[in-house]
Amino acid sequence: MAALMNVTGKASSWMTPELEDLRDAVRRFVDSEIVPNQERWRKQQHVDRALWHKGGEMGILCADIPEQYGGSGGTFAHQSVVFEELGYAGDMAFGIHVHAIVAHYILNQGTEAQKQTYLPRLANGDMIAAIAMSEPGAGSDLKGIRTTAVRGPDGYQVNGSKTFISNGYLADLIAVVVKTDPQAGAKGVSLLLLETKDNPGFRVGRILEKVGQKGQDTCELFFDNAHVPFENVLGGVEGQGFAQLMTELPYERTILGVSGVAAIERALQLTVEHTRERKAFGQTLMDMQNTRFVLAEIKTEATIARIFIDRCIEDTIAGDMDTVRASMAKYWISDLQCKVIDQCVQLFGGYGYMLEYPIAQMYVDARVQRIYGGANEIMKEIIARSL
Ligand SMILES: Cc1cc2nc3c(=O)[nH]c(=O)nc-3n(C[C@H](O)[C@H](O)[C@H](O)COP(=O)(O)OP(=O)(O)OC[C@H]3O[C@@H](n4cnc5c(N)ncnc54)[C@H](O)[C@@H]3O)c2cc1C
Repeated sequence: MAALMNVTGKASSWMTPELEDLRDAVRRFVDSEIVPNQERWRKQQHVDRALWHKGGEMGILCADIPEQYGGSGGTFAHQSVVFEELGYAGDMAFGIHVHAIVAHYILNQGTEAQKQTYLPRLANGDMIAAIAMSEPGAGSDLKGIRTTAVRGPDGYQVNGSKTFISNGYLADLIAVVVKTDPQAGAKGVSLLLLETKDNPGFRVGRILEKVGQKGQDTCELFFDNAHVPFENVLGGVEGQGFAQLMTELPYERTILGVSGVAAIERALQLTVEHTRERKAFGQTLMDMQNTRFVLAEIKTEATIARIFIDRCIEDTIAGDMDTVRASMAKYWISDLQCKVIDQCVQLFGGYGYMLEYPIAQMYVDARVQRIYGGANEIMKEIIARSL
């Protein structure tokens, strides 16, 4: 396949020569360390721990975390280059997105001691991060969570369970959403930074068998008097959890948009290449007007999505991204991603249904984009409130 690029044929507005160099380096890293391992990771249901250390050495785990905390000192542009390159390679196993999200919670919401303790270890890959919000009984409606944290003699005792947690099997540090005051509604919710090592009250359940993204360790987690020191309540004050989630979720949703656009661009390119080569009825598929019209529509939509997400990236760099636009990016791009990939599968015919063809893998990997990070219906609720 030809080298993948921005669908507009021009560099994104936020790209610079330095970022082009980073893109080249990340692409080489992805080609050598990630692409050849996909099948093995799908079988074992998680990536190798060594990948995290290699990512740390490359400086891509916390690309937009300041150097004073061990990060690479870049901006969201640097992190976006990493996410785009993973998207262009079709990787859905490396949970670096969730890792970066947790680093941002700590950077923006944590105490100085929390930043100094955890960010360097997240940046160098010594620690892998996860965020545990969802529970068997509460996903979209997070107010319904039941996991509690009670103050014990030497720290919080956490009890309850979480499900669908990305990086759950490998995680060393989990930002766990708990009720520190079950009577106080939203004001009784806190985020605790739980270390999994030497924590007998913490247990990882199954790595869940998913439709796609099989190389990603999505897990059940169980807490039975799991220990969290008092100083590990995020931000140092109880009851801030909901406000912290509301502040940080736009970052997560923008990331989903960035990955989604890269996937759309990849799907288009794969399908253009296939339809130019595949022959039927004495002509290539691309010679048929239906194929050209479908791909023309996809290119138009991909271009609109690219221009929109580039603006979102610019605004995130400037610290000016709002919840409503992040919700638009998450819902609209993930819907488009699923629609476009489905149309591409159709143009591949039977080959589009064979997992040895990347477009088929993209089809099964994409579906969850409309569900996690907040279901798209929830995104529309958020957008509707701004009308
Ligand atoms: C692969 C994968 C990875 C995940 N990773 C993580 C993770 O790392 N950490 C984490 O905490 N969670 C994670 N999740 C959980 C994910 O965020 C939730 O699945 C999602 O928020 C939806 O919650 P739910 O599954 O409980 O669905 P429910 O809340 O039961 O909702 C089901 C459906 O009902 C509809 N719906 C719900 N509420 C409304 C409403 N108000 N208005 C209209 N329609 C509505 C929507 O269509 C929604 O999809 C992951 C999930 C998956 C599948």
